Amino acid sequence: MLKIYSTLTRKKEEFKPIKKNKIRFFVCGPTTYDYSHLGHAKTYVQFDVIVKYLRYKGYKVFYLQNITDIDDKIIKKAFEENTDWKKIAEKYEQAYLEDIKKLGVDSVNKYARATDYTKEIISQVKRLIKKGFAYKISDGWYFDLSKDKEYGKLAKRTAQEADDAVSRIDENTEKINKGDFCLWKFSKQNEPAWKTDIGNGRPGWHLEDTAITEKELGNQYDIHGGGLDLIFPHHEAEIAQMESISGKKPFVKYWLHTGFLQINKEKMSKSLGNFLTIKEILRNYNKNIIRFLFISSHYRKPIDFSEETLRQAKNTLQKLNEFMVKLDNYKSKVKNNKKVDL
Ligand SMILES: [Zn+2]
Repeated sequence: MLKIYSTLTRKKEEFKPIKKNKIRFFVCGPTTYDYSHLGHAKTYVQFDVIVKYLRYKGYKVFYLQNITDIDDKIIKKAFEENTDWKKIAEKYEQAYLEDIKKLGVDSVNKYARATDYTKEIISQVKRLIKKGFAYKISDGWYFDLSKDKEYGKLAKRTAQEADDAVSRIDENTEKINKGDFCLWKFSKQNEPAWKTDIGNGRPGWHLEDTAITEKELGNQYDIHGGGLDLIFPHHEAEIAQMESISGKKPFVKYWLHTGFLQINKEKMSKSLGNFLTIKEILRNYNKNIIRFLFISSHYRKPIDFSEETLRQAKNTLQKLNEFMVKLDNYKSKVKNNKKVDL
């Protein structure tokens, strides 16, 4: 029996897909405004191995990943570089796909770009408005947290705590509750906009994912994965949106989250100067060593990335390789009835 730890219940549960033997699996992909870093590499390699393991166990897995190709960060970068936001999104999407391919991540069935799902996104906003979960203020349509009594159940936060952890991106004094998040953002001058009867604008980040998964996987599916930092508010918001729209619970049966990556026991950040992109690390290390390091501890645990841990991973991998060679020799000797030295 396969058991799986779900963040929603905070315990190991017997794994039973909604449809026998079939698994609908979704992992949050990148926002394509910069090169992907080592923390992303950890998450995507670990989910790659999990999906491959589930397939090895006989499950038919449909693995979907989204690509956030419209976002404030992309627009900001385009302004800074004096170019079109689409060019930025395309450039870094390509870089991302190249990087993870080089890391041996090849289990994803489909990459879904947010801008290819604007029809579904608008439909979700409209259904939330119709059901009374959304309201309009000067810069967009927002989700009213006071309408969702279960908000906070994934992150185990109360409504007040959720309110206190205000998302910086969605700051607006007109909001009903401080923690309310944006569903549809009205466009300012020179910003990308989709023309709609709910106002010209662009999607909120959380809504992109539920619109994509509703179309591709249905309004309930088996596994949602992502980095630990996405639990709140991103995944919490996804649950609020989809369960409010469909009325069906749970939106996702099992929630899987990967632990943080540290570099020399410190948080990786640009300001600390220990920020490593996938491209940089692949210049110096073989992908198998990096993959081995990422799967040598549990995916929920943090990993310390350093010269020392890489060296250890390399040594262990070499020993495993030698053992495999010995095993092959042993097997062929046994087969040919030769004497075996142990
Ligand atoms: Zn996401």
